[in-house]
Amino acid sequence: MIELLFLLLPVAMAYGWFMGRNSVKQNQQTEKQDLSIKYSTGLNYLLSNQQDKAIDSLLDALKVEDDSVEAHFAMANLFRKRGELDRALKVHEHLVRLGGLPTKAKQQAVFELGKDFLSAGLYDRAEKMFTKLLKSKTYGLKSISYLLQIFQSTKDWQQGLSHKKLIKKVNDKRQLHTLANFYCELATTAFEQDKFIDVIELLEEALALDPNSCRANWLMAKIYENHDQCEQAAQCYQAIYEQDKEFFPDVIQQMHDCYTRLDELDDFYKFIKKVYDETASSSALITYVNHIQENNGHKKAKEFILTALKRRPTIRGFQHFIKMQMSQSDDVDNTSLDLIKDLISEYINIKHRYSCRTCGFNSSTHYWSCPSCHEWEQLKPVRGLEGE
Ligand SMILES: [Zn+2]
Repeated sequence: MIELLFLLLPVAMAYGWFMGRNSVKQNQQTEKQDLSIKYSTGLNYLLSNQQDKAIDSLLDALKVEDDSVEAHFAMANLFRKRGELDRALKVHEHLVRLGGLPTKAKQQAVFELGKDFLSAGLYDRAEKMFTKLLKSKTYGLKSISYLLQIFQSTKDWQQGLSHKKLIKKVNDKRQLHTLANFYCELATTAFEQDKFIDVIELLEEALALDPNSCRANWLMAKIYENHDQCEQAAQCYQAIYEQDKEFFPDVIQQMHDCYTRLDELDDFYKFIKKVYDETASSSALITYVNHIQENNGHKKAKEFILTALKRRPTIRGFQHFIKMQMSQSDDVDNTSLDLIKDLISEYINIKHRYSCRTCGFNSSTHYWSCPSCHEWEQLKPVRGLEGE
C-alpha cells in the first residue's frame, strides 16, 4: 500500500502542476476540477485499501498528455510483482487501448501486457503481444526472448525455429544457443525413431547456430555409435571436451566403450591423461588409475592415486582408493575397510551429482533444461571435494 502511494506521488504532483496552470478557458477549468476529483477519489480509495476502485478512478483520470503515464506503468508493474495479475492486466490493457499514446509508450504497454499474460500462463495471448513487437527497435529483441520462452514451455520447437532468420540477423548468442537446443529437441525425437539422416541434419543445424552446443555432439556421438560409425563418434566425444570441460566427465564411460569398439584404447587413455592433467577431474583420475593398475600393477596405481589425492582430495577419489585397498587386503582387514566404503557410498548417494551453473539448482538427475531457471545446458557435474 505504502509503495503504491509513493508511486502515485508523481500523479499527484503532475496534477498539482496541471491544476496550477492559469487557463483562460472555463471549460478547461471544469475539466481540471473533474480530474482533481477523480485523482483525489483514487487516492482516497487507495488509502482505504479499496484498490480496484482506486484503479478505476485513476485510470479514468489518465490522459495521454498527462505526465502520469509512467506512474501508471510503475503501479501496474508493482501489482504484477505482488502477484496481483488481474490488476496489472487492467492497467496495461487500459494503456494499450488509450488513443493517441506516443509509439514508444504504446509499445511499452503492449510489451508489459505480454509479460502479464505470460505470468498468468496465458501463452497464446502473450505470444500475440510479443509478435506485434518483433519490428520494434526497443522491444524487438526482448520480445523474441520471451517468445522463445513461450515455445520452450509449450514445446513448440518448430514455431521457435521460425524466428531463426531474425535471431541470426541480430546475432544474439544466448538466443542462438536456445535455438540450437530446439534443434536438439527435434533431433532427440528423430533419434528415438532412429532416423539417422534426420538426426545428423538437425544436429548440424544446431552446431551451425551454436558451435559450442555439446548436447548436439553428445547426441551425434550416440547416433553414430548406434550405426557403427565409431570413428565419427570418437571425434564427437573429443569435441565435447573442447566445448565443455565441466560436462565432459559424464561422457567418459561412453567414450571408453566407443574406443573399445574401435580397439584404440591406448589413444583413449592418452586422451584421458590429458583430461586429468588439465582438469584434475575425479572421473578422469579413476579411469586413468584403472588403466595404470591393469598395465603397471597395483603399486604404481596406488602411488599415482595417493599423489593425486594429496594434491586435490575428492570423496570419489578416496572411495576408489578404498576399493583398491580392499582388492589387495586379506579378509580381516576388509571388515573395517568395507565399513568405510559403505559409509562413503552412503555419503555420495545423498549428495547431488549435478548443479545448475546459472541458478544453483541441485539434482541427482541430468536435465538439458534446468527445471528451475529453464536455462539450457547449465546442469553439470558438481565440482570440488564432493564432486568432480
Ligand atoms: Zn538453473
